[in-house]
Amino acid sequence: MSTDKNLSAGDEIDSRCLKCKAVTNHTIIAMLEGKAAKVECNTCHARHKYRSPVTVKKKSSGVRRVAKKKATGSKKGGRMSPEMKAAAHFETVLGDRSREGALPYAMTATFAQEDLIDHPKFGLGLITRKISASRIEVTFEVGIKVLVCEQP
Ligand SMILES: [Zn+2]
Repeated sequence: MSTDKNLSAGDEIDSRCLKCKAVTNHTIIAMLEGKAAKVECNTCHARHKYRSPVTVKKKSSGVRRVAKKKATGSKKGGRMSPEMKAAAHFETVLGDRSREGALPYAMTATFAQEDLIDHPKFGLGLITRKISASRIEVTFEVGIKVLVCEQP
């Protein structure tokens, strides 16, 4: 009565396969108390114990612990990853500037220092330095990049 489906040996069932490292289709080889006990992977043909495709998640107690840790470790610098530093620097550079009206980046376009640009790969960036007529230093959230511009 406890089963939602009437499964029996020979039926197909989804199970996690350690060899395939994925949830794959399996054929039930043996049943135990109305549930699949032993299965064969239809992909790699490994025979193993039935593993539910649903990953059992731990209850939210762990989440709270993480949040607490974050609050205590709020000291600036030091432990920040290069990515976090770059993102923080980008925020500083951008300040309270409007993020609207960014110019789409193109190699052929002309830019000036302080222009806000929209790069297809790096996203929003501020031109922090005009290195030469054809090279600009742009501060992105991912870091500082040197891009070319005014290409013929
Ligand atoms: Zn497999």
